[in-house]
Amino acid sequence: MPTFSGETSRSRTRAFTLVELLIVILIVATLIGLLLPAIAGARETARATICASRASQVSTMLRIYTTDNKDLFPRVRDSAYGFANPGWDPSISVEKTWVDLLVQKEYFQVELESHGLPEVLKCLSAHGYDNDPSWAGSMPQFGVNVNLSPPKQLEATAGRRSFFGRPFDYIGDQSSKILLADSKHITNLRGWATIGNVNWVALRHSGGQAANVAYLDGHVKIERSAGTVALTDVPTPFAAINFWRQSTP
Ligand SMILES: [Zn+2]
Repeated sequence: MPTFSGETSRSRTRAFTLVELLIVILIVATLIGLLLPAIAGARETARATICASRASQVSTMLRIYTTDNKDLFPRVRDSAYGFANPGWDPSISVEKTWVDLLVQKEYFQVELESHGLPEVLKCLSAHGYDNDPSWAGSMPQFGVNVNLSPPKQLEATAGRRSFFGRPFDYIGDQSSKILLADSKHITNLRGWATIGNVNWVALRHSGGQAANVAYLDGHVKIERSAGTVALTDVPTPFAAINFWRQSTP
């Protein structure tokens, strides 16, 4: 006959053995191990989405700038590299580049003296500023297409034509021409924050395989590349031709 004796209660409390406890711990650990990569993937997806949004905002600011400045983009290189003052805005010193110009014209709200950087110019997937942690937080992590105002030596490349000095509305193939993208720190020295070919693009997203790219027509897309590729064999969208135009006009 069943009883509610102390003996029965004690046997029930002992039913959860050490082996079972270890098995439960093992199962929980396995589940965590399975979940962590998924969580990391979701976090990177979120960072890439925020980055794309910021690239879109900067792209919009740059295009609004053109409407305020005779339909021309701000220069992206300084006088030290063959750049001449275009003369359409004499109030701006020749040393200023696109970031400075957008700050000076208050498209971005930031104090130049503080060496601060507007949040909109940061990519959350940029860790320790790629190869140079000393620049972290002080330099833009997007680069604007250098061909909007290139050094003279770039313009001299055979068959290559820049967009410099051309009114925005008259630039052709806007859906395939790159305006800005995730960029490496090396191109950002002195605040140029430019890109000129695939080697200047920082493939920060999707495990080092992708970068956000804003095109001249305003659309932003996360573009993938197969890691390091030779300039002569670059897949679209990072093909050199997407950075400049081939002929006049
Ligand atoms: Zn990014």
